[in-house]
Amino acid sequence: MTEKTIFHRIRDKEIPASIVYEDDEVLAFKDIHPKAPTHLLFIAKKDEDFVPSIDDLTEETAHVPGLLIRKAQKFAQEHGITGYQLKFHVGKGGGQEVFYLHLHFLSEQKLADD
Ligand code: 5GP
Repeated sequence: MTEKTIFHRIRDKEIPASIVYEDDEVLAFKDIHPKAPTHLLFIAKKDEDFVPSIDDLTEETAHVPGLLIRKAQKFAQEHGITGYQLKFHVGKGGGQEVFYLHLHFLSEQKLADD
């Protein structure tokens, strides 16, 4: 594999993050520079699901955006968040800084324990 991104290092617990959800497939953590009262990032954990950007999707990784969206939807339902935005930044021109596919979850509603 090429050099680890910062999100590989968060996934591998080499650097800390405020993790709000984790299972075998997905990790969600708070964005370090939040742009909304709740700003989370969802990433896929498995190496075979790694893809740098939406622009790099293949038939093998085409399921990953749906996986992230489904986990974000379940997270929102479980936390009583009824309105939110989901975003993928695609490529440098699209504002993408970290080339480990991630779904931004933004809401004006705060998490209960924040
Ligand atoms: P992008 O612009 O690539 O779609 O979004 C990357 C996001 O990752 C940015 O919103 C940025 O604030 C966040 N970010 C960058 N480095 C770190 C970090 O070390 N920890 C956390 N929690 N978020 C980070």
